[in-house]
Amino acid sequence: MQVRVLISAEEIARRVQELGREISADYQGRSILVIGILKGAVVFMSDLIRHISVPLEVDFMAISSYGEATETSGVVQLLKDLDRPIEGRDILVVEDIVDSGLTLSYLSQLLKSRKPATLKTAVLLDKPERRRTEFTPDYVGFAIPDEFVIGYGLDYNHRHRELPYVGVLEK
Ligand code: 5GP
Repeated sequence: MQVRVLISAEEIARRVQELGREISADYQGRSILVIGILKGAVVFMSDLIRHISVPLEVDFMAISSYGEATETSGVVQLLKDLDRPIEGRDILVVEDIVDSGLTLSYLSQLLKSRKPATLKTAVLLDKPERRRTEFTPDYVGFAIPDEFVIGYGLDYNHRHRELPYVGVLEK
């Protein structure tokens, strides 16, 4: 396996710290329910929450992924729901990457139907060229070109999530 590094561990750490500060400023005087989307968001979320200085709770949702393919089918299946209701809460959904936008727009609609006070989204990576639906995340770590990336939580065929950087797998 050869991996070309796209975003180094140091660059990620700097940017995640900035995002944490920005989120803390935006939510001053409130508390957040941070919802991580399993499994890809786990690494980003665990670093991000340690840079957020307002009170927060965490919960998780799991949805169907591409399986072994590298493109979304457009069909999103809920595999694990939240443990608790979100009505009246300030929600921050944390996801690894937004690509077509189908996953996050589906999830946002689903969560909005449960009447949170506010709902925002934070993604580490954004591939704006690939959008197939109108969706704009509130917080973006890095915009990247249309390449399939792995590492820092992102997998290929269930592997490589543990890499400390974001890279492109080269065959
Ligand atoms: P969307 O619904 O926006 O097309 O896709 C979102 C999901 O697709 C992400 O949560 C992630 O699981 C997967 N995905 C999209 N692009 C990539 C990529 O470059 N690498 C990996 N590992 N997963 C991706």
